[in-house]
Amino acid sequence: MKNDPFSNAQSQLKEVASIINLDEEKLNQLMNPYRLLTVRFPVKMDDGTTKVLTGFRSQHNNALGPYKGGIRFSPEVNESEVKALSMWMSWKCAVADLPLGGGKGGVIIDTKELSEAELERVSREYIKAIYEIIGPDKDVPAPDMYTTPQIMAWMADEYSQLVGKDSPAIITGKPIEAGGSEGRTEATGQGAIYVLERLVEKEGLDKSRLRIAVQGAGNAAYYFIQLAQDAGFNVVTISDSKGGIYNEDGINLEEVMEYKKENGSFKGYNRGKEISNEELLELDADVLVPAAIENVVTKENAPNVKAKYIIEVANGPVTPEADNILHEKGIIFVPDVLANSGGVTVSYFEWLQNKAGEHWTKEEVNKKLKEKITKAFDDAYESMKELDVDMRMGTYALAVRKVVKAM
Ligand code: NAD
Repeated sequence: MKNDPFSNAQSQLKEVASIINLDEEKLNQLMNPYRLLTVRFPVKMDDGTTKVLTGFRSQHNNALGPYKGGIRFSPEVNESEVKALSMWMSWKCAVADLPLGGGKGGVIIDTKELSEAELERVSREYIKAIYEIIGPDKDVPAPDMYTTPQIMAWMADEYSQLVGKDSPAIITGKPIEAGGSEGRTEATGQGAIYVLERLVEKEGLDKSRLRIAVQGAGNAAYYFIQLAQDAGFNVVTISDSKGGIYNEDGINLEEVMEYKKENGSFKGYNRGKEISNEELLELDADVLVPAAIENVVTKENAPNVKAKYIIEVANGPVTPEADNILHEKGIIFVPDVLANSGGVTVSYFEWLQNKAGEHWTKEEVNKKLKEKITKAFDDAYESMKELDVDMRMGTYALAVRKVVKAM
């Protein structure tokens, strides 16, 4: 299947296996998740009818610790995607040096079609369907696309009721009042900013002259843009599924988001040029930050990418065939498992705080996040140089070695 996420994840693993001479047995074990649970669960709709929804929980590898990974609510959720994302979580936790393994979940549902009460019932019923295989020391879910802190709170509450005790450490990304961590909401964007700053240092770039093109306007993209601007970077684009806005002097984030809220999209916003997502990816910018969905840089458009650096805030935005083209062009791409690991790192901090009954300040959280992600970046950068491969392979080599050692 073309651009099938799980085939992509497997071919990346095979490639790294040959770079690090991984033995066949270990490779076989890592090629597929340990467990993929598929559930079909009924949910009562507001009009009295019952819908049967399909959900998944994939657990790839737990050699380093309990499975960890988000839950996605989207009509596009499918088995291949969930399996791929759980494998990527194994590498992500390993790169970030967290004592956690790789998991991922999802429900095939369009949240835009649900009332708040229906959304709550979907969240609770999904947890009822999977609760036996999750737990604070077994598998700890978190938010992902179209799932929110409120949804995490419902899920934590449902799980606590099922097991008969308060269990905040069952899930991360909760609202602060329900045991969430300071800094979790913006953690993915914040982590990617620390990565960007380290990349600028390592490559000796002039921060004030960089033009940064961001694809996306959701949680990850929004905070990345806000924090990049706070840190003095020039972000020239923003986009959603219908298209985006380009302004070479920098986009006005609050204004453009307000416009989208009122009008449903960026169409018609006049302080900047309207661009399609295809144009955005091929823009003459220095750093491209795909922060929306997977498979947007492919072998078809990779030859036209003009940015010299790519920071993968989204999961799987570049296909394996595109990797080779980008690498040949001398483009450095910081892979998703490293670039967006701020989210899981602060999730880990939340889990630690819940288990210890503590609540850290935002300064403490960000200080620890910066230390962890900067160290991970340095290790991956060094591995890339040492093995003379692209940064994805350098990062994967580091991660797979750690997981295999634990196995
Ligand atoms: P989100 O639901 O908040 O935002 C998704 C964004 O993608 C929206 O702006 C939407 O308009 C845009 N989009 C949807 N379809 C598109 C299309 N066809 N073309 C262009 N844009 C499109 O989700 P998010 O949490 O911001 O996640 C975005 C990406 O970052 C995902 O790949 C996710 O796995 C990854 N990620 C997020 C986090 C996190 O903490 N939020 C952590 C790690 C990785």
